[in-house]
Amino acid sequence: MAVPPPALVTDLLAGAVAQWPDRVALDFIGRSMTYAALDAAVGRVAAGLQALGLASGDRVCLCLPNSPYYVIAYFAVLRAGGIVVGTNPLYTAREIGHLVADSGAKIAFVIDLPAVHAKVAAVASIAHIISCPMAAALPTLKGLAYRALRRGDILDRRAADARTTPFRHLERTPNTPLSVSRTPDDVAVLQYTGGTTGLPKGAMLTHAGLVANCLQVAAHDSTRTAGPETVMAVLPLFHVFALTSAFHDAIQTGARIVLLPRFEMASFLAAMKRTRPHRLYVVPTILIALNALPETKLPSTAALRLCVSGGAPLPPEVRSRFEARTGARVVEGYGLTEASPTVTCNPVDAQPRDGSAGVAMPGTTIIIRSLETGEPLAIGETGEVCVSGPQLMKGYWNRPAETAEVLVDGLLRTGDVGYLDADGYLFLVDRIKDLILCGGYNVYPRVIEDALYEHEAVAEAVVIGVPDDYRGEAPKAFVVLRPGETASPAELRGFLSTRISKIELPREIEIRDTLPRTLIGKLSKKGKRGLRAALPVWP
Ligand code: AMP
Repeated sequence: MAVPPPALVTDLLAGAVAQWPDRVALDFIGRSMTYAALDAAVGRVAAGLQALGLASGDRVCLCLPNSPYYVIAYFAVLRAGGIVVGTNPLYTAREIGHLVADSGAKIAFVIDLPAVHAKVAAVASIAHIISCPMAAALPTLKGLAYRALRRGDILDRRAADARTTPFRHLERTPNTPLSVSRTPDDVAVLQYTGGTTGLPKGAMLTHAGLVANCLQVAAHDSTRTAGPETVMAVLPLFHVFALTSAFHDAIQTGARIVLLPRFEMASFLAAMKRTRPHRLYVVPTILIALNALPETKLPSTAALRLCVSGGAPLPPEVRSRFEARTGARVVEGYGLTEASPTVTCNPVDAQPRDGSAGVAMPGTTIIIRSLETGEPLAIGETGEVCVSGPQLMKGYWNRPAETAEVLVDGLLRTGDVGYLDADGYLFLVDRIKDLILCGGYNVYPRVIEDALYEHEAVAEAVVIGVPDDYRGEAPKAFVVLRPGETASPAELRGFLSTRISKIELPREIEIRDTLPRTLIGKLSKKGKRGLRAALPVWP
C-alpha cells in the first residue's frame, strides 16, 4: 500500500496503521497492543485532552517511564496540536519543577506514585494532572521510586488534589479529536538539555527535524528488510536518542516495540529471552554490563541483527567483544539533543572504523572549525564539530541569547572537539567543556580513557581534571576493574606510560567499585549527580 511520505511526527504512526493495523506495536511486560488499537487509544486521549482545554502549541509534560501510557500520551498530545515535554520521573523536585515551569506546561501525565505526583503538583502552572496507573505493573523492579511500590505506596485518587484526572477517564472520551492545523515547522518536542552551561534549556525540535532524522536513520540502515522486526526500547523515551531510534524509527517500520521502564539486568535478560529482538539501541555502559555476564547467562541473540550505541564513546574492545559474543553488528553513532539527535553513524554494511563515530547522516554536513579563530579546518585537523542539516533544532525555548551562541548562520556549534579523515569519518576527541588545561597544554580525557580501556583488567574508566597547584589542572582517573581481575594504580600508570604522553599521565588513579552515571546510563563527569559530587573527599 502506497503511503505518502511523512511530514509530521504523527504521520509516522498514521503510515504504520495504514500498512500494518494488526501488527503488534507495543509489548509491555508481556502484554501487547496492535497498531490499530494504539491509534484508537491515541485518538480518544487526544479528544480527552482537547476536552480539558488543550489548544495548539500548549505544552504537555510527560513524567512517565517507558510504557504504553508514554506512547499513547505522546502521540495524543501531538495529534491535538500540543508540544511534548519529556521528563524523567526520577529527577528531583527541583529539576522537574524547573522543566515544568520553564516550559509553561499546564497539563502533565504522571506515573501514579505519590512522590512523583507531588513533584509535579508543586508547580503552580499545572492545571491538570493525568494519573497513569502503571506503578502496580512494575512490582519486580528495584530502585528509588519503585521501592515505594513494594510498600503498596500507590497514589490514592481520593487523596490526590482536585487537579487530578485518572488516565482512563481521558481515554473514555466518546468524541473524536477535532482536527487542528499543524505545519512541519511547528515545534513537536521541547527536549531539555544541559547544553554547555546553566540550567537545562528546552531545545525546540520541530516535526520536520524529527521526521528528517527518522528518515536519515532509516536510510542509513542499509541491511534493513521489509519484514516486521522487534526493537527493544530500554533507554528512556524522554531521552532524544531513544526517541528517534527506538521509538520514531521503530514506529515508521511497523516494528514491535518492547518497552522496558529502565535498564535492570534481570528484567532486561528476561525480555530479551522472551521477545528475541532484532534491534537494540544502547549506551556503551549497557554493552559493558552485558559483556561482563558469563556466557551462559546471555540469552540467544540469534535474531539480533543490529545494535546501535550512542551517547558516549564506545571503546573498540567493548564493540568487538559484544559482536564476537552475539554475532550482531554493533555500530557507534554520534548525536546531540540539538540535532534531533543523530549526526553520524558507522556504516551498518561495512566494518566500522575503530574509534570513529562514523560518517554524516544523509543530507548532513560536518565542518570542523578552529577552536581559536572559528575558521574552517582541513582534513585531519582538530577543532569544534559544527553541523548543518534538516534535523537541527529551531532554537532554545525562550532563550534567544543562548540560541544565538550555538546556531550561527544555519550551523550548529556542538561543543564537541574532533576531526574528519579523508573518507569523511568523524573522530571525536572530546568535549570543549571536558578539556583539561594542564600546564598550558590541552589534555583530552578521552585519550587517557581509551588507553585505559586497552588494559584487559579495566571494565570502565573516566578521567576528569582536578586542581593542581603547579599545573592549574591535572588529569585524575577513576577505574572499575572487571570481576575477578586485579590491577594496582601503579601497574595501570606503568601501562599508560607507554601509550600516552607524560603530560597526559594521570597523577592519581583511583580504583572504585562503581562510577556515577547520568540517568540514561552515560558515565557522568560533571554535575550534582556526577563524580565531583559523589566523591566524599576531593584532593
Ligand atoms: P545529549 O544532548 O544529552 O544527547 O548529549 C550529547 C553529547 O553526548 C554530545 O555533544 C557528545 O559530547 C556526547 N556524545 C554523543 N554520542 C557520542 C559518541 N558516540 N562519542 C562521544 N561522545 C558522544
